[in-house]
Amino acid sequence: MRPTIARVALPVPLDKQFDYLIPSHLFPVIGVRVSVPFGRQTLVGIVTELVSESEFSLDKLKPIKQLLDTAPVWPQSLYELLQWCSRFYQYPLGDTLCNALPSALRKGKVADFTSIVEWQLTPTGKDQLMVGFGRAVKQGQVVKLLEHGPLSHQALLDADVSSTTLKALQEKGWVESKETKPIFKPWSRDVEAKVEKPKLNEEQAIAIATVNSNPEFGCYLLEGVTGSGKTEVYLNMIKPVLEKGRQALVLVPEIGLTPQTINRFKKRFDVPVEVIHSGLNDTERLNAWLSARDKVAGIVIGTRSALLTPFADLGIIIVDEEHDASYKQQDSLRYHARDVAIMRANKEQIPIVLGTATPALETLHNAQTGKYHHLTLTHRAGAGTPTTNKVLDVKGLYLESGLSAPLIAEMRRHLDAGNQVMLFLNRRGFSPALMCHECGWIADCQRCDAYYTYHQNSNEIRCHHCGSQRPVIHQCQSCGSTHLVTVGVGTEQLEDQLGKLFPQYKTIRIDRDSTRRKGSLESALESIRKGDYQILIGTQMLAKGHHFPDVTLVGLLDVDGSLYSSDFRASERLAQLFIQVAGRAGRASKPGEVILQTHHPEHSLLQALLTKGYGDFAQTALEERKMAMLPPFSYLTMIRAEANDSKLVEDFLRQVRHTLEAHPLFDDYCMVLGPTPAPLAKRAGKSRWQLLLQTQSRPLMQKILYSAKPAIHLLPSAKKVRWSMDIEPQDLS
Ligand code: ADP
Ligand code: ZN
Ligand code: ZN
Repeated sequence: MRPTIARVALPVPLDKQFDYLIPSHLFPVIGVRVSVPFGRQTLVGIVTELVSESEFSLDKLKPIKQLLDTAPVWPQSLYELLQWCSRFYQYPLGDTLCNALPSALRKGKVADFTSIVEWQLTPTGKDQLMVGFGRAVKQGQVVKLLEHGPLSHQALLDADVSSTTLKALQEKGWVESKETKPIFKPWSRDVEAKVEKPKLNEEQAIAIATVNSNPEFGCYLLEGVTGSGKTEVYLNMIKPVLEKGRQALVLVPEIGLTPQTINRFKKRFDVPVEVIHSGLNDTERLNAWLSARDKVAGIVIGTRSALLTPFADLGIIIVDEEHDASYKQQDSLRYHARDVAIMRANKEQIPIVLGTATPALETLHNAQTGKYHHLTLTHRAGAGTPTTNKVLDVKGLYLESGLSAPLIAEMRRHLDAGNQVMLFLNRRGFSPALMCHECGWIADCQRCDAYYTYHQNSNEIRCHHCGSQRPVIHQCQSCGSTHLVTVGVGTEQLEDQLGKLFPQYKTIRIDRDSTRRKGSLESALESIRKGDYQILIGTQMLAKGHHFPDVTLVGLLDVDGSLYSSDFRASERLAQLFIQVAGRAGRASKPGEVILQTHHPEHSLLQALLTKGYGDFAQTALEERKMAMLPPFSYLTMIRAEANDSKLVEDFLRQVRHTLEAHPLFDDYCMVLGPTPAPLAKRAGKSRWQLLLQTQSRPLMQKILYSAKPAIHLLPSAKKVRWSMDIEPQDLS
């Protein structure tokens, strides 16, 4: 019998599907988009079931308005993966499915390529590169941008090129535009471009052969020190996949997606490469998505969300810098792209390679227990020698904007020798607090349990938690004194101070404030590489994915916070940052040096890290985790709740705790911690509390949460607070 009712998943935060009548002229199948009336709106949803009966009487049901696809939007395996995600991360199916679509499809657009306008150089334009541009600076910039190949109109606008400039260049005959609509063209078997390739060393060859001889599912940890040639290994693993006419997915951390990374893949293979990141506009995103689904693209490189791209025939997944925190989404569907990637590879029966110099402790544990194959690259392949590392005990030393005298002296030595120096400080702004010198009052955000950060450049005080900002105040709000002083050091202040200490050298600051404008990070990195600056200051941003061969000294200014943080992963993060920066500095002819300023030079993890390296650090840290029964030796779920009324939130979480503890599967090895106030107990006017569930097995955690969730929804206070479940949280705040 023909089904009469379609069950539709809609982008609403309700954990259920909705029934609609199927008009006789429509023939939906599972996995297609439909538009349906919902209250007074029309929503786009996904058909998840076709049935003949509903728990509601038929005259209450409304008909589907429109059928938006003739075939399912996702291949079956990805559709199943999304359903798994919804279950595993305890997130409503409707929201999970709809958010996985490019926004154009979410809005109901046809799932077909929109043609895009691209600009490219004409032969005359190319000749101009030799001649130069004289006073036509802007036009020159455009020609240089197009030097390596065509760019979309949108990409040029994003790079601050105006339409007028493009028009002028077109009239000169230097550039031309074309409209393109991608189509599927099978790529030739001869996928490799004619480029020079390094001769593989033995470890690389073993890693490649291991994966290439097993085209079935397998999870491989490729642990290779920085510069050991991991990318070369990826390229060699991708090659046979492309030769079979299949596709490859390469995930990189948010900040790792630089033009250099992309170019290494584009240059190596004669197949279309699609890049997916958060900066794409709706059209570009849809095109990239379709291009993977319809097999126009051979390789897709992208950040976290690229994982949910459909593929016609995926043959391998690479997760570069697998330990990177940006793989975990921190809101809505709180998925971990690395973990879901493994699940995806399993479903599609293909290999997955997790590459890193500093494996996450979870990953390392899985490799050590034999769940993953462990491949190692222990030698630096290209240039570069190991750095010398030093802990600088700053106890009792005078710190000038966070810099100790020995560090300043060391900096001078490196700078005077013509090298670059890089300093890390993970705090934006001028100073993290503004205090009254008379009475000790500190300017604090009215809406959060936090102090305002003083930003000198913009003459403001800003709350880094709720984003509120106001003009800087000059008078104490408690005693009226005008003697306000700054407390603590941020990157702005450090920049200021370095200008005074080293007036003869140029300093550049890289943080979220200084790189807000699109493309500004790339151009900053480029000018660093060219040697326009001698001193580089940065937050973590500066550590990832960039090699600076002329940097011979790296200073980590304040590591104490990470050694004694309430977040059990803080020391792991510090170790990863440390190895990363150490790996970026120096080269064979100019060995690098890394200095950590700390008040706790004797700290055991610090000692393990510095004297014996990441491997020993990780072993020590894993033993500590085991003693404390922390991940990977247990599984956590964080339940967060917030509301204006603190008491209400606490009560709600207390009831949640009872619900969990009353669960029949809750055993002696399960534990609930809390409710406790969140580390930031108040944000944007809301009181925040949290509850941590700890279990010994993943399936057990799943079962408890799955059946406790409906009960939690039914708690009377559940509607009065905002609450969420974070499965296997990465961030405990
Ligand atoms: P990683 O990703 O491990 O940091 P890369 O893949 O970027 O390392 O390699 C570092 C450098 O070494 C690159 O310039 C690369 O071209 C070069 N390289 C890689 N493999 C070899 C090799 N077998 N012989 C010589 N150079 C190599
Ligand atoms: Zn605030
Ligand atoms: Zn005062």
